Amino acid sequence: MNIVGLHNDDRDGQDCQDYEALLQFLYMAPVGLVQLSADGTIQMLNPLSAQLLLPLCRDGELTNLFEGLAPVVPDLRQQCAAFDADQGQICDATRLFLHADHGSNGPQVLSLSMLKLGADRLMVVLSDITLQERRERQLRKTDAWLNAIMSNITDYALLSLDGQGRVEAWNDSIARVTGYDAGGIVGRGYDVFYPPESTTDAHQLDRLREADDNGWILDEGMRLRADGSRFWASIMIAPLPGRCADAPPCDDEPAYCMIIRDISDKQDISEGLRKATFSDYLTGLANRRAFFEAAELELMRRRKAARPVSLLMVDADHFKAVNDCHGHPAGDAVLRHLAATMKKACRQVDIVARIGGEEFAILLPSVALADALAVAERLRALVQREPASYEQASIAYAVSIGVATMGDGIEDLDQLIKRADQALYAAKRGGRNRVAAWQASGMVAGVTHGQ
Ligand code: GH3
Ligand code: MG
Ligand code: MG
Repeated sequence: MNIVGLHNDDRDGQDCQDYEALLQFLYMAPVGLVQLSADGTIQMLNPLSAQLLLPLCRDGELTNLFEGLAPVVPDLRQQCAAFDADQGQICDATRLFLHADHGSNGPQVLSLSMLKLGADRLMVVLSDITLQERRERQLRKTDAWLNAIMSNITDYALLSLDGQGRVEAWNDSIARVTGYDAGGIVGRGYDVFYPPESTTDAHQLDRLREADDNGWILDEGMRLRADGSRFWASIMIAPLPGRCADAPPCDDEPAYCMIIRDISDKQDISEGLRKATFSDYLTGLANRRAFFEAAELELMRRRKAARPVSLLMVDADHFKAVNDCHGHPAGDAVLRHLAATMKKACRQVDIVARIGGEEFAILLPSVALADALAVAERLRALVQREPASYEQASIAYAVSIGVATMGDGIEDLDQLIKRADQALYAAKRGGRNRVAAWQASGMVAGVTHGQ
């Protein structure tokens, strides 16, 4: 094949320099450039276009582009003939598939654009888009695959979330599972699926950070539909591959995928299992094991996003006497009453547990000492005001409460429990039916008490 050059006749000075620059441009251009006359005869072509067109050359000769390209774009000559304007674009990014039957890598693919520059002057721009075409094909396959999954599964809702946990995209089954449509959900935080009392903004973000750290998170519980009704669901959140947790958050890029699965039919089984493992049989509160697991998790979260955490240790006063006076079953009823009263005085996010016979612990995430004292006092007063009842008998009882807060020398769960215990003993020593707090000065101060 000949690389047909421009003729360097009769040029002088500036012309000559311009000519050299033009030649250099043609040689270096990252696209193939071919100049043709109206009948397709090649006037000039740069080295890249020579290389790109090589597979079409018979015997290394290519003098007419229309003829050379006839096997892959048979109507190129007609397109030019039909183009009436004096100048303009005849075709744009037409794809040429060469070697269609070569190997497993697929054909070599060129993109061809043709411009009419004058009555007898055409310019063709060629570029190799084989890799781009291969990637697009792969993407189309992946898309088709994902679409098949997303539209055929019925009891899973798939969503993508941005770095802040706002919904970006969803599949059709989101409506079946949650009752939301696209308009109602895009741009909203994923907490729309959680009953408001069961979570806080800080917890929602914590879950995303945990997913970053662990690769995914899974939680199970009561969730919310668009119409306010509730259903039992498992939710998995996983960071999308390629996302870098350290990169600055980018609002318009999906960062997590979220899968909501309605498992209402499995609620009884999983609830039963969960209760057996983590609940206290008498009161239904979290048991000792559940308390320690949940508290460790909360303190781990706190280490990442500094915020207060407080602990109340609650012990029924003179409980031995309650048993002695009313009998053991009545004592059990009092413990159940106390559990219900504690639940009433706390938020859903608080961890309320029975950790011993008549000893209870309440962990208050995001609550500092002053507010923790207020919660403790509210609980103490509630117990005093609302006695338990057993077989028509009203049984008055009281509690003492010790309060401690993370920080100020309390750095782990053991220390937090130890300090809250010290405060509890101080409340007992101070006369019972009262609240005391451990303070950084090391002094245990009696704070409030009943009559
Ligand atoms: P204090 O004010 O110092 O806490 O006095 P107390 O009598 O509450 O404390 P003590 O530790 O001496 O007694 C705790 C009592 O709680 C003894 C035990 O029989 C009773 N108890 C522990 N677990 C249960 C339970 O599950 N049911 C009932 N009815 N009583 C329980
Ligand atoms: Mg007691
Ligand atoms: Mg006790």
